[in-house]
Amino acid sequence: ARSLVIVLGDQLDLAASAFDGFDAARDTVWMAEVAEESTHVWSSKPRIALFLAAMRHFALALRKAGRTLIYQQLDDADAAPDLATALRAAIAKHGPERLVMTAPGDWRVLQALRGVARDAGLELELRDDRHFYTTVRDFAAHAKGRKTLRLEYFYRELRKRHDILMDGGKPLGGQWNYDVENRGAFDAEGPRDVPEPIRFEPDALTREVLDLVASRFADHPGSLDAFAWPVSREQALESLMRFVRDRLPQFGRYQDAMWPGQPWLYHSHLSAALNLKLLDPREVVSAAVEAHEDGRAPLADVEGFVRQILGWREYVRGIYWTRMPDYLESNALDAHVDLPGFYWTGDTDMHCLADTIAQTLEHGYAHHIQRLMVTGLYALLLGVEPKQVHAWYLAVYVDAVEWVELPNTLGMSQFADGGLMASKPYAATGQYIDRMSGYCKDCRYDPKQRTGETACPFSTLYWDFLIRHADRLRENPRMALQVRNLERLDDVEKRTIRDAAQLIRHEKGTPT
Ligand code: FAD
Ligand code: SF4
Repeated sequence: ARSLVIVLGDQLDLAASAFDGFDAARDTVWMAEVAEESTHVWSSKPRIALFLAAMRHFALALRKAGRTLIYQQLDDADAAPDLATALRAAIAKHGPERLVMTAPGDWRVLQALRGVARDAGLELELRDDRHFYTTVRDFAAHAKGRKTLRLEYFYRELRKRHDILMDGGKPLGGQWNYDVENRGAFDAEGPRDVPEPIRFEPDALTREVLDLVASRFADHPGSLDAFAWPVSREQALESLMRFVRDRLPQFGRYQDAMWPGQPWLYHSHLSAALNLKLLDPREVVSAAVEAHEDGRAPLADVEGFVRQILGWREYVRGIYWTRMPDYLESNALDAHVDLPGFYWTGDTDMHCLADTIAQTLEHGYAHHIQRLMVTGLYALLLGVEPKQVHAWYLAVYVDAVEWVELPNTLGMSQFADGGLMASKPYAATGQYIDRMSGYCKDCRYDPKQRTGETACPFSTLYWDFLIRHADRLRENPRMALQVRNLERLDDVEKRTIRDAAQLIRHEKGTPT
């Protein structure tokens, strides 16, 4: 072959830059399912299944499009265990003149493939990933000379540059941001008439994958019984269409709300399809903007949605690629507690955590506030080592790929980068969870109590967190109010809180 075109499991787009100038007579596509991608973190069954099912459907699409393909299946007798070994074998067998690919999302994968190319004396041509509005170079230019990075300015620049929700030079509706309208909670009755999400019954190809995952990764966390994710471009487009029609009009209002037994609410559930590149962010944003233009969705909801994709998604990618590999090691709060074993089972009497983890294991999904203010918050307050928190998030969610997971986990939720991504730690008591969800009324703990028999562990640990980090937090103007409240506590109360927190670490923190 002239070029061996490398396609990774999260690069499933027939129009990707890797295929520019592809000549079916001379070039060959190479894809490989390798065990290491499922085992380097203890990847959940739904996550493994989604990647493999989507890869196999993409292989079909490639063949249909007439592109020659070399494809290693995980269950091939001679399957190589990791990407580097598999690629080395392919080079030896097919003798390409060069390697071509769209730049990978993961730093680790890029290093591995570069190493193989170097050893083989072959050029590895890396092409820009067009599945983003920005390049890493754009972000680096934006970040240059700034001490701290904030989403807001980056996002406004992109709105202007791409003319999205703009009215001449001004933001449509006169405001850049409708966040205040996007913090609604449900009343005591909870959500009513939430539209059913679209489900995709596994076809024969996906069922094969489900069987393979069930037997090969039997001891991995999570379950496959409810698997219904879109695994092809056609399905992903259908998901997008259904979201825009049914959920987008209420998306913003209930964006931060949580309810027991309601994993889906008004969210889009499109992150996995976007990250696998079954969808392009531009078509997702356009569909939402058009819905507003046609009077099908209010501006506040559409802006809230666009901000997540045009803003956050691009922004975290920029952070990842400008900060790796050091970012992985960050631990600004010097946290060293082990991740509690119940994160892998959901077996805890804290209702918010039990429910969030149960749906995570069943579907590979939880929405942003569950990730940030339930599982993330508890790990932050407990003082779990950031790397262990990272390994959990990367393992359990179907949309988890490192470039997006790592900054969200280390930066936003654990404050491990010391404030590069978030202006203050997302620390809160159980009362925040109570305000935003229906979890607390059916919990044996009381979010208003910080010590005593029925004290909510979040509330105890919140005060313990403030005590432990008081010196550092005092320097942060955005934490002033919280620190002032802390200073009202006398030494006896502080001692009681610290003892209660130690007991929680001891009793609830047991790793398995
Ligand atoms: P919606 O609420 O419908 O949002 C629409 C889209 O916006 C999402 O599909 C996603 O593409 C994008 N988006 C929203 N928030 C973010 C964000 N903070 N960063 C980047 N993109 C965002 N997202 C991932 O895609 N993969 C991850 O591995 C991941 N790990 C996370 C870990 C932690 C600790 C936290 C706090 C957040 C993480 N997120 C991750 C971001 C966010 O929680 C998910 O993108 C979102 O919950 C996916 O569900 P959805 O598609 O229904 O999103
Ligand atoms: Fe979670 Fe505390 Fe509320 Fe129980 S009381 S659901 S542990 S926040």
